[in-house]
Formats: sequence, structure tokens, C-alpha cells
Amino acid sequence: MTKSIRCSDVGVDCEWRAAAKTEGELMVMVENHAKAHGYFEMPDDLLLRVRSAIREDTANV
Ligand SMILES: [Zn+2]
Repeated sequence: MTKSIRCSDVGVDCEWRAAAKTEGELMVMVENHAKAHGYFEMPDDLLLRVRSAIREDTANV
């Protein structure tokens, strides 16, 4: 099982996507990428949007 996210699912016009084995790992990648959008610290509402945008995929991404 893979957890994946697309930046566009969070409502950003961006092609970035990431996949990881755990949500924790994925969140680290998201936090690093968020810096590209100027979020050096993710606000709570953004974290909530990110969490709800995370998908569980059975296939590898
Ligand atoms: Zn992005």
C-alpha cells in the first residue's frame, strides 16, 4: 500500500506529486515541498487539507 498526494488536490496549481509508504514519510516530503510555495511552517488548515488529500493506492506511483 502506498500513500500518495498531488499538490493540485490541495488546491494549488502545481504538478508536484509524491508517494511514500507511510503518512509520516509523505508528510515530510509535503513539508519540504510546501517551502516551494512559501509555507515554511504549515498552518493547521493547510495540514488538514493535505491530510484529507492523501490517497491510499494499491499500485506503485
Ligand atoms: Zn506544489
